[in-house]
Amino acid sequence: MIPRNHPRYTSLMLREKIKKAHDKGYLADSGMIAHGRGEAFDYLLGERTTDNGRKAIESAVATLLLAKNPIISVNGNSTALVINEFIELAKILNAKIEINLFYRTKERIAIMKELYESHGYINVLGTDDKKLLYIDGIESPRATASENGIYSADVVLVSLEDGDRAEILVNNNKNVIAIDLNPLSRTAKMANITIVDNIVRAIPLMIEIAKKYKNKDNKYLKSMINNFSNKINLEESLEIIKKT
Ligand code: ATP
Repeated sequence: MIPRNHPRYTSLMLREKIKKAHDKGYLADSGMIAHGRGEAFDYLLGERTTDNGRKAIESAVATLLLAKNPIISVNGNSTALVINEFIELAKILNAKIEINLFYRTKERIAIMKELYESHGYINVLGTDDKKLLYIDGIESPRATASENGIYSADVVLVSLEDGDRAEILVNNNKNVIAIDLNPLSRTAKMANITIVDNIVRAIPLMIEIAKKYKNKDNKYLKSMINNFSNKINLEESLEIIKKT
């Protein structure tokens, strides 16, 4: 039991969630390493949502609200940290949730499917091996997608993802929104919009902003997108890290 007044309470609680997901069998060993990399960057960012992160979130939410077929792509790490928030965000955005695992096994997929169902989300996509398609015919686990989900999506929200996957999606004309604490990662550079923030802060803020933006007209939403440059935003994030 971690005492509430421990100076690293939040960080340790997140580690517990990651460890629990590993024990349950749906998070691969390397997922723990990826979490550690994220922790290091969060430390450097001051473990807060920066103004910069917020700007990216506003643009991302506007993009998702204007999408025809928006998909939230989830993996073991992101599910371990924010499953309830993913489900709430999907509902508000009218988006679908699709599981995409680099270390895909039948067992991991079955555990995650059941987990989403037990949290009240029934139709999670990407669970049927036989029905998976390969984007651009690239026969790699990084290119798998379900027909009504990522395969036909115009906007895909990915988090804690690696660069190969992001590259395949971008090359296939998907508008990719990434949540990644590392502004130097290949994913961060590849995505159309990168939210440099911890997923545990970013998704709740996306929910809050999506509720607000649902009542805005398309002109307003488009202006939020047009005023955003991913390149500049990433450079600003690096500046923040240097100054923290
Ligand atoms: P790339 O291939 O894009 O350069 P990578 O090889 O670092 O990335 P992974 O090892 O899969 O890819 O790491 C996943 C990414 O997720 C890392 O950039 C890490 O900083 C980030 N990350 C980890 N935990 C979180 C979190 N809680 N919130 C947001 N991002 C996170």
